[in-house]
Amino acid sequence: MKSLVTGAAGFIGSHLTEALLAAGHEVVGLDDLSTGRAANLAEVAGHPSFRLVEGSILDRRLVSELAQGADRVFHLAAAVGSFVIRDRTLAALRTNIHGTENVVEAACQAGARLLLASTSEIYGKNDKAGLREDDDRVAGSPLRSRWSYAEAKAIDESLVDAYVREKGLRAVIARFFNTVGPRQTGRYGMVIPRFVRQALAGEPLTVFGTGEQVRCFCHVADVIPAVVALIDCEPAAGQAVNLGSSEQVSICELAHRVIALTGSDSGIKRQTYLAALGPGYEDMMRRVPDCSLAAGLVGFAATRSLDDILRSVIGEQAALQGAACAL
Ligand code: UDP
Repeated sequence: MKSLVTGAAGFIGSHLTEALLAAGHEVVGLDDLSTGRAANLAEVAGHPSFRLVEGSILDRRLVSELAQGADRVFHLAAAVGSFVIRDRTLAALRTNIHGTENVVEAACQAGARLLLASTSEIYGKNDKAGLREDDDRVAGSPLRSRWSYAEAKAIDESLVDAYVREKGLRAVIARFFNTVGPRQTGRYGMVIPRFVRQALAGEPLTVFGTGEQVRCFCHVADVIPAVVALIDCEPAAGQAVNLGSSEQVSICELAHRVIALTGSDSGIKRQTYLAALGPGYEDMMRRVPDCSLAAGLVGFAATRSLDDILRSVIGEQAALQGAACAL
């Protein structure tokens, strides 16, 4: 089995690449190393069935060349992270719309099955506890830059849907809800690696807004087996499928838990969204998935608790800091 993984050097992409290789797949990874890092692939760098190509999904010819001969295309490459969307909105829109169009067309031409990585951002400000795949989007203004990511991903989903219906593409859409775990960096805004880094460094943890906003964090190790299974799951074809945990936590409570688990004496510093993320930012106050569709299709279950997740991220960051101190 030959797989193309776009975004292979990213946080989720690198875990997926390892899992595919362990399952005996041949994997070609494509990554422009903008937010991904070759170091994420250190464990598989010399693997005889793996090749990393440095390039962009905006390079139509390259994408088409790499998709030829692939049985599976996992499309994870995207501009992600609230800081990236804030600072490079236009480039992010181009990557997430035109880049995806290239990948979808290439998968279709190659006759490969496709999995599109999408996002819980799709639901926008819908704060229903237990969002189902067919629930409405509650869209913020497209003139607020925060929503441009959701806009682009919604176009990607519609594009895949049209290719499925009109061109016979075999594809499934995975909507990730706050996937976290080792190798995720806080550099682009993701809250758990940021809080852990701040706590370990003895810096105040930066809580944006009131801190009452609620999220459900899911360990990447729970998500990956479902991603691998979904691309081949016949009843999933043509559908969007939520992947996430239902364990809710407010961001304020999250900050306290990180402080307790690290044993840090850091305090908490509140920042307005304006100060932290600039004008054009709006948050959603609660985002909780219903994952019964994924459970029924591929037996998905979020088995790791938030404390398990925090311990794994703390363990990784503490080891990295320890290694840096030893140099
Ligand atoms: N957040 C925060 N402090 C930070 C980074 C993020 O309070 O240093 C908040 C952010 O405003 C959001 C939540 O944490 O309400 C989760 O942010 P993240 O970017 O990880 O994911 P999102 O759910 O926004 O996609």
